[in-house]
Amino acid sequence: MREHSKLFEEVFASDIAGAKRECVCGRVIFNPDGGWDWDEGELEDLFVQAKRDPDMFIAVDYSVQTFDFGTGEIVIGCPCGRALVIEEFSIVESARIARYIRRYHEARIGRSREVLTTLDIRNGR
Ligand SMILES: [Zn+2]
Repeated sequence: MREHSKLFEEVFASDIAGAKRECVCGRVIFNPDGGWDWDEGELEDLFVQAKRDPDMFIAVDYSVQTFDFGTGEIVIGCPCGRALVIEEFSIVESARIARYIRRYHEARIGRSREVLTTLDIRNGR
């Protein structure tokens, strides 16, 4: 399985790690050995589900961490590979993304100048 780069993970991963997360693809990734506080029967249920549907319920030996690009959490290590898709899109489209970000901020600066000018006029400056 191809995965996103470590650099991408260092820059975009959320700062929170935990026992269990559901990826935007629907898979549940959980860390049974992390000393977490589970609800009564929760971990046992996860093992049952993992045995029944090992593609959708995946036990890992590390704290579960995610990316959140505003479209739902993508679990790091999830086999769906959605983080890789976003990373590759970012690389392939980096020139357009840079152009978009520059124009977006230029427009915001322009709008801020308009507001400041309006405020100055109202304040008699
Ligand atoms: Zn996923």
